[in-house]
Amino acid sequence: MRDCFTWHRPHPVTLVWLSAAFFATAGNMALWKSLWSIVEIHGFRSALFIGSLPLLLFCLFNLLLTPVGMLPLLRKPLLALLLIVSSAASYFMLHYGVLIDRSMVQNVLETNQAEMASYFSLPLVLSVLLLGVLPSCILLLMRTGNHGRPLRSSLVWLANVLATMMVLVTIALGFYKDYSSLLRNNRYLREQVLPLNIVRHTYGHLGSSHRARLQPLRTLADDAVRAQGPRPRLVILVVGETARSRNFQLNGYDRPTNPMLSRKDNVISFQSVSSCGTATAISLPCMFSSMPRTRFDAERAASQENVLDILRKTGVDVVWRDNNNGGCKGVCARVPTDYMGQLKVDSLCTNDDGTCLDEILLHGLSSRIEAMQGDGLVVLHPLGSHGPTYFQRYPADARVFSPTCDSNQIQKCSNEALVNTYDNTLVYTDRMLGSAIDLLQSYSDDRDVALIYVSDHGESLGEHGLYLHGTPYLIAPQEQTRVPMIMWFSAQFVSHAGLDPACLRRDAATRVFSHDNLFHSLLGLFQVSTTEYHAGLDVFAGCRGPSAGSGPRAIACPAARGTSAPGSDGCQTATDETVEVLQFGRTLGSGIAAEHDPRERDFLGVRRKSQAGAVARLQNQPGPPQAPAG
Ligand SMILES: [Zn+2]
Repeated sequence: MRDCFTWHRPHPVTLVWLSAAFFATAGNMALWKSLWSIVEIHGFRSALFIGSLPLLLFCLFNLLLTPVGMLPLLRKPLLALLLIVSSAASYFMLHYGVLIDRSMVQNVLETNQAEMASYFSLPLVLSVLLLGVLPSCILLLMRTGNHGRPLRSSLVWLANVLATMMVLVTIALGFYKDYSSLLRNNRYLREQVLPLNIVRHTYGHLGSSHRARLQPLRTLADDAVRAQGPRPRLVILVVGETARSRNFQLNGYDRPTNPMLSRKDNVISFQSVSSCGTATAISLPCMFSSMPRTRFDAERAASQENVLDILRKTGVDVVWRDNNNGGCKGVCARVPTDYMGQLKVDSLCTNDDGTCLDEILLHGLSSRIEAMQGDGLVVLHPLGSHGPTYFQRYPADARVFSPTCDSNQIQKCSNEALVNTYDNTLVYTDRMLGSAIDLLQSYSDDRDVALIYVSDHGESLGEHGLYLHGTPYLIAPQEQTRVPMIMWFSAQFVSHAGLDPACLRRDAATRVFSHDNLFHSLLGLFQVSTTEYHAGLDVFAGCRGPSAGSGPRAIACPAARGTSAPGSDGCQTATDETVEVLQFGRTLGSGIAAEHDPRERDFLGVRRKSQAGAVARLQNQPGPPQAPAG
């Protein structure tokens, strides 16, 4: 009787078919949005090609989920987990233009409660309920049976695989060229296929992290020696957060986002600086490592000393002060660290999510500095302009621009309100930097003092339909990769370090820099000699000593060559990826006006040429003239 009852239950392969059908349709809406904008119907063949897309996706998911379906006890929980996680990812992909790559998975896995809370919203909950929990419940409640003996059940699985492969081969025979062209010209599509992107990159990240943990710490620059200046040097380095270059008044932005820094003497703002990554988890380890962006290996960086370790080895007193709820991403692992949020200073820690305003980084800093012996480096890691809750990043008296977007549903705010809110975060960052300079000046009688500020990555505020950051670097828009870098030196610092301020200003205005410069510039600033140091990447090397103004420069790229992302030599080169970002932006349903975005002009130039089949040749040719930042 029991056997008779189970005989009428569907075979477990049905669970796989239902899951595959869901992921081939409603479970992959961001992918379908992209495909819909890319593939055009012009005739019977293209209509057939479009018709084959859901079938191809179903077959792929069917094959890939079959091993999961063959696990008797785990198939339902695993399929439900994939559905629920994918539904949350689908929400961010659709509403913020997010792509799921390795760094995005890393961001999610390393996030904390406060950051997660900042994304929490009713639409997100509804999306997860409708596209994740509901289909999961249906799967979990389905009763399946194995239809008799194990051999017979195995034959069903085998037949499923063979039939699916036959369909796939048929589609490949009919449309191989179409699929090949589609994927070659739109490589970002791979990062849109749920849940494959999640599974692949989670596996990759966890494996890499595990391997890094097993590796012993690799020391670096054991030959490093530091020369002593006539007076102790004190440098405050502010790294991050989420500030983009084009919204800085000092870089030509037409709004007063730098009211304090613009009034101070000796402030130098570097107009063209590229980040190493588009997310903190990549940029932070990269900018402190000896590896340039093009050769950056996160696994290696995690098990290797960075520039802070080298400075400490040579006797520099290094302190890391953190107010970023994402932490220091391992960079401060061997450095004395103050977690400022734990202080719970009443006047600065009033946010519901437990975060504090960045001025807390200066709280008690004087006593830290006074305890320093000799040369000192204080690294401040602010929360800066981290979204989507920009309105929580500044106090009421820094609300210079209004109306503001006082919500985490930033995609629903007007562009005016969103930009106002973001710009207010920059005004507050400007105030914090100005206060840090004031503090440094109070020590200038007996120390040579300096401040360096550089953001870890930029931010998209709806341009190209993108929000936030974390877009894969090769197709990331300039808003996410162009960052502010600002420096201030006391007169005595300039004098004792032999720096030529006019030379620095000239370089800051005309040359292209990147996070690759930070490692070597810090070594240069503290007069550290080591084989790891390369003067060609030291921002100050060409503006120091008697050779100032005529010596070697850090990454000297002709302005006419710049387009999107630094190449192996640090200069920027037009590639087919620059064409792809245009396509990606187009699939998101919007585009920023070319006259407001110099890079868009560059891309349009590249794209026109690519349409003539000249992309390959472009890779070896100078790009169109680079417009000034801002
Ligand atoms: Zn960041």
